[in-house]
Amino acid sequence: METLVTLCKRRGFIFLSSEIYGGYAGFFDYGPLGVELKNNIKAAWWKDFVHGRDDIVGLDSSIIMHPRTWEASGHVAGFSDPMTDCRETKKRYRADQIFVAPVWVAEMVAGAEAQFIGNIAFMEDASADEILKRAKVLRDVADKKHFKVIEEKLAEKREFDTIPEAELASILGPDATKPGSLTPARQFKLMFETHVGALQDASSVAYLRPETAQGIFNNYKNVLDTGRVKVPFGIAQIGKAFRNEITPRNFVFRCREFEQMEIEYFIQPDADWKSLHRQWIDTCIDWFVSIGLPREAIKEDVHPQEKLAHYAKACTDLSFKFPHGQQELEGIAVRGNFDLTQHQQYSGKNLEYFDEEKKAKYLPHVIEPSFGVDRAVLAVLTAAYDEDEVPNDKGVPEKRVILRFAPKVAPYKVAVFPLLKNKPELMERAQRIYKKVQKRWPAFWDAAGAIGRRYRRQDEIGTPWCITIDFDTIEKDGTVTIRDRDTTKQVRIHEDEVTAWIAEKMGEN
Ligand code: ATP
Repeated sequence: METLVTLCKRRGFIFLSSEIYGGYAGFFDYGPLGVELKNNIKAAWWKDFVHGRDDIVGLDSSIIMHPRTWEASGHVAGFSDPMTDCRETKKRYRADQIFVAPVWVAEMVAGAEAQFIGNIAFMEDASADEILKRAKVLRDVADKKHFKVIEEKLAEKREFDTIPEAELASILGPDATKPGSLTPARQFKLMFETHVGALQDASSVAYLRPETAQGIFNNYKNVLDTGRVKVPFGIAQIGKAFRNEITPRNFVFRCREFEQMEIEYFIQPDADWKSLHRQWIDTCIDWFVSIGLPREAIKEDVHPQEKLAHYAKACTDLSFKFPHGQQELEGIAVRGNFDLTQHQQYSGKNLEYFDEEKKAKYLPHVIEPSFGVDRAVLAVLTAAYDEDEVPNDKGVPEKRVILRFAPKVAPYKVAVFPLLKNKPELMERAQRIYKKVQKRWPAFWDAAGAIGRRYRRQDEIGTPWCITIDFDTIEKDGTVTIRDRDTTKQVRIHEDEVTAWIAEKMGEN
C-alpha cells in the first residue's frame, strides 16, 4: 500500500486533502492523472450500464435532500456503526472491525499446562506477526518469563462488539500497553449533519447523503412518468456520498467523502429474483474484468441470512484483493420493495406502478448493484502496479515501475516524442502528429531527456503507447515508431496510419 500511496503522490494521481495544513483524515484529492483515471472509470461504467443498455436510464440528483428521505430510509434511526474508545491512547475504533482473541501461553519447559493470560484486540487487517507481537505485551504485563504464545489459539477470534462487558477488563486494546482500556461498544451516527436556511435549530437539520441510492428512489416516480421505461428497468446514478467513518483507513478504500456508482434495478414482485441477482453478479464481475481487474482477485462474499436486514432477500459483496487484504469492492443486494414502501408511506404519495401486461398495480422490488468509485480506482491501481526489468539506453537491465492499465482507463493513451529537442524539423513534425492524436485521445508531449528515460516516465503513469519521430520520419519515408508499454516492442508505421492504428488497439474502429 505504501508503494502505491507514494507513487500516487509522486506522479499526481491522489493527494491528501488539505495537505498544506497537514491533511484531513478521510478526505482525498485526485490530481491531474488521478482525475483522468477516475473519470475514465466512471465513463466506462456509464457507457456500459446506461448507454449500452436499453433498460437503464441515468439520473443526477441533489446531495442534500428533504430530511424526511432519511427518516423513511431508516438512516436517521439506524445508520450507525458500533464504536469503542481507548481510554489510554484516546484512539477510537470501529467495534465490528476489531477482533478479540484469547492469549494462551505455555511454559517452554516440556509438560507444563497451557495458561490463559488475557485477550488482545487487533484491527481486522493486522498481520499475524503484529498480533503475535501484541500478544507478547500481555505476557510482559503478566510478568511471566519463558512463556511461549500458542499461536493457533489466536485464531479463535470474536468481533469486539459481541464481547460481554464483564470481559472488557481483560482485553488489551489494539494500541494500548495495559489491558482494560477499551470502553463498551456504543453506536456512532455516520451521517454528516448540516443546517439549511438562516435558522440553526432542530427544524433546519439536513444531511449530506450517505448513499446515492435514495436520490434514485426519490425520483423513481418522476422517471416513470416522464420516460418510456417499463418494469424491469433500472436507474443509474454516479455521485458523491458522505459518511463520518470512525476509522477512515487504507488510503481511498475508506474515506469520509467518496463517490458511488449505483443502480436500482426495478423488477416485478414475483420475478425470479434469484436468477436476476445471479445475472447482476456475473455482469458486475465481467465489468470489473473489462477495466483491468484479474478475475481471480475478485471473490463473492454471500451475506449469511441472519446478518441481512429484515427486508433484504439476499446480498452478495464482490471483494477484491487490495494491498491490505481481500475486502469489499461492491455490494449487490436484493432489497425487496422496502425503500419504495417507506417513501410511499412517509411522503403520502402513491408510488405504485401500473403493469399494462399484468393489468395490476404494485410497488416493484429492486436489485441494487452499488459500486464505490474510489475503491474501483484503488483496485485498478493495485491490479496495474508492476515492477520488471528492461534494458536502459546503454543496454544495461534496469528496474522499471509500470502501471499496466487497460488502455480505456489509462490517463493518457499516447505520448509523443521528437527524438531530439534541438532539431526544429523534428520538433515541428512531432508537434503536427501530437496535435492530430490529441484531437481524439488525451496525449502527452515530452521532448526532454533520453528516450529511455521518457519511456520510463510514461510506463510509470501507465501510458500504453509512445510514438517517436526520428530522422527516418523527416528524411526517408514518413514512418514513426510506436512502442508498446507492456512488451516494450516497437513497430514502425507511416505517420498517416497512426490514428487508425491506435483506434484499432483501443477497439474503436
Ligand atoms: P463497509 O462495510 O466497507 O463499510 P458498506 O457495506 O457500508 O461498506 P455500502 O453501504 O454497501 O458499503 O456501500 C456500497 C459501496 O460504496 C461499497 O461497496 C464501497 O465500494 C463504497 N463505499 C462505502 N463506504 C465507503 C467509504 N467510506 N469509502 C469509500 N467507499 C465506500
